[in-house]
Amino acid sequence: MQTPDVARRQAPIPFIQATRRDAYSCLLATHFRYAYHRVVRKLVHRPRRLRHSSALRNLVRETHLNAHNFVLPLFVSEKVQQRRPIASMPGVFQLSVPEVADEARAAQDLGLQAVLLFGIPEQKDEQASGAYAENGIVQTALRAIKSKCPDLVTITDVCLCEYMSHGHCGVTRIDGNHFRVLNDETVELLARTAVSHAAAGADIVAPSDMMDGRVGAIREELDASGFDQTAIMSYAAKFASAFYGPFREAAESPPQFGDRRSYQMDFANAKEALREVALDIKEGADIVMVKPALPYMDILWRVRERFGKPTAVYHVSGEYAMVKGAVEKGLLDERDAVLEIMTGLKRAGADIIVTYWARELARWLPK
Ligand SMILES: [Zn+2]
Repeated sequence: MQTPDVARRQAPIPFIQATRRDAYSCLLATHFRYAYHRVVRKLVHRPRRLRHSSALRNLVRETHLNAHNFVLPLFVSEKVQQRRPIASMPGVFQLSVPEVADEARAAQDLGLQAVLLFGIPEQKDEQASGAYAENGIVQTALRAIKSKCPDLVTITDVCLCEYMSHGHCGVTRIDGNHFRVLNDETVELLARTAVSHAAAGADIVAPSDMMDGRVGAIREELDASGFDQTAIMSYAAKFASAFYGPFREAAESPPQFGDRRSYQMDFANAKEALREVALDIKEGADIVMVKPALPYMDILWRVRERFGKPTAVYHVSGEYAMVKGAVEKGLLDERDAVLEIMTGLKRAGADIIVTYWARELARWLPK
């Protein structure tokens, strides 16, 4: 009986005449055996050597996540007495002022260092007056949080869309069928909002509107008002994205007409993103942000490489909802998927990651 090896060697070889088959197959087998040994002897580099055990993999891991990398977004509303779940974002809630202070405290106890506050006012108007009111929702929440956890870094979203009756991020003029978001008028209100947040205890103000010149105006007003230690995290490259959908339910800020493409960036543009970031840095941004995250990792990488500034990325509501949806269907393991996404974002250059999973990450990661 033939051994399988012999049978394989004797199998018909195409294009070789039957009479010479055995001689050829013998020759080929010898040739490949020697070739194989030559290659193996030359194989000095075997990257798999360092992947054999989790201890070895830990030893050579290049990117490490830490609870300090993450910022937890919190939504505080004048309209709720008790936490209201946001249907499109499982696990995310609109909170009352006392609840948001408790939540901030709980986040700090878990090991997080920073929260990003969004406010939902009772009343909206065409001047977004709730955004810069001394007793506005964000200002009140800031005081409540700072009284409970003074060391927690409080970052505030500085934008007008939650406070505008029409839901756009700026002062709007309607001419017939067209509307325009007025840049300079908006910037004035944004600077006023930033100062009111600083006065209520914000450590960092985060303008997210994409108006031109707002970082410079905010820096100037903060300094003039005695808040030269309040930092600015600018949403420097914020793209007009389909992935913001669920957030607009959370912040109750969908535009009532038109879209935001006249101020947020065209998602096809990378060089323009670098120009936007350069402008914000020149105007005084301390931290620059790219938003959204996963479809823009090339931008994130370039921003971190080119400017070397502390760089943040916002993993947005639609990106969160996609994974949550897949987890609910049993298609993904939540912990594995989230850790891979967050590691990828950090590897791509993010120093700071704003994510709705910040709490879970603080629990999952080694202390
Ligand atoms: Zn806005």
